[in-house]
Amino acid sequence: MHCGKVSLEGLAKKFGTPLYVYSGDQIVERLGLFEAALAGREHLVCYAVKANSALAILKLLAERGAGFDIVSGGELERVRAAAPEALGRVVFSGVGKTAEEIKAALAAGILQFNVESEGELALLAQCARKMQVKARFALRVNPDVFAETHPYISTGLREHKFGIDIRKALAMYKSVAGDKWLEAHGVSVHIGSQIRSAEPFGAAMERVAKLAGELEREGIVLETVDAGGGLGIDYHGGSFDAAAKVTEYAAALGKALGGFKGKLLLEPGRFIVGQAGALVARVLTVKRNGKKTFVITDAAMNDLIRPALYQAHHEIVPVRKRAGKRSVVDVVGPVCETGDFFARDRKLAAVEAGDLVALLDAGAYGMAQASNYNTRPRAAEVLVEGGKARLIRRRETMGDLLGPEIL
Ligand SMILES: *Cc1c(COP(=O)(O)O)cnc(C)c1O
Repeated sequence: MHCGKVSLEGLAKKFGTPLYVYSGDQIVERLGLFEAALAGREHLVCYAVKANSALAILKLLAERGAGFDIVSGGELERVRAAAPEALGRVVFSGVGKTAEEIKAALAAGILQFNVESEGELALLAQCARKMQVKARFALRVNPDVFAETHPYISTGLREHKFGIDIRKALAMYKSVAGDKWLEAHGVSVHIGSQIRSAEPFGAAMERVAKLAGELEREGIVLETVDAGGGLGIDYHGGSFDAAAKVTEYAAALGKALGGFKGKLLLEPGRFIVGQAGALVARVLTVKRNGKKTFVITDAAMNDLIRPALYQAHHEIVPVRKRAGKRSVVDVVGPVCETGDFFARDRKLAAVEAGDLVALLDAGAYGMAQASNYNTRPRAAEVLVEGGKARLIRRRETMGDLLGPEIL
């Protein structure tokens, strides 16, 4: 098995396992799909940093003109470290921003704050006044649209913590019109993640476009409409036509936007990096307990929590095929939790202790959600571009883990 022209076996030998391997070429290609689909209108693709925040990946995207969607002061510092020239292309989302985070983002001159409550808007105005700068804001509205996805990553219903009830947004914009330190710059929405159909995106955008029209009639002309992220990928290894998906998605947004003349912002995360990454692990042992067979790998839930957290499916394939029958197994890690599994009752190709397996489509919300649970150093990461592989994050050492502690 290869990433581009680079053998995964070679990478595992050189850098050890567990190892995240990303195709930079595919990441760039995916960004290009959005750029192509939106070529007809003014737009900015703001990659959602939280999906995979590796500095090398941020740099790769920034060099190709991408902006960024951040959700913390920490992610702001990642953009600054990877591509300071892109700070002006940052939108700041998130339901609980601190004054320190807001001030840092104001000082950095980011494009827009996506504000999620009245309290946050007041805090933003207060910070802007202290710094004597004008803050560009968008209200993140909650359109009350249902999107078919896992309940943990659905965000667009009134019962969720996210956004401002769209019925209250008009009054909120009007209440700060004329504020010296606030500029109504846009309106934003994000209805959830891993949404496979274009339909809910169109439905949400229709409501947002209607609001933008109402605002315009009140004399509040917005420069941006931010459609959020959330476009889903195929985790089941079928033939996936990414270009067709993006085209369909962009068409649904375009149709719903109607006559809006400003800039369309998008915040895709998963769609750009998800299928570009694999987690390579070594089989430690194959163990039988009663009727069940467990394939125990050196990667665990601390490296990739998606199966445990969202019942997510990842295809698992041997890096080198060996002879032997497929059999039904659980693929698990060494962490002391029954929830530490990658697959349950999965028909897997024959594997033995010492073999390498690849967990596919692990580029998004994999390393980004990795932890040190069970005092496990986090994995190394490798980026493959045009047939060349390079380490973009070294494996953590015990020094990294124990360093902050005080005895
Ligand atoms: C998580 C998130 C995204 C990215 O979602 P994907 O499903 O990875 O595309 C975009 N915008 C906001 C506000 C988010 O919270």
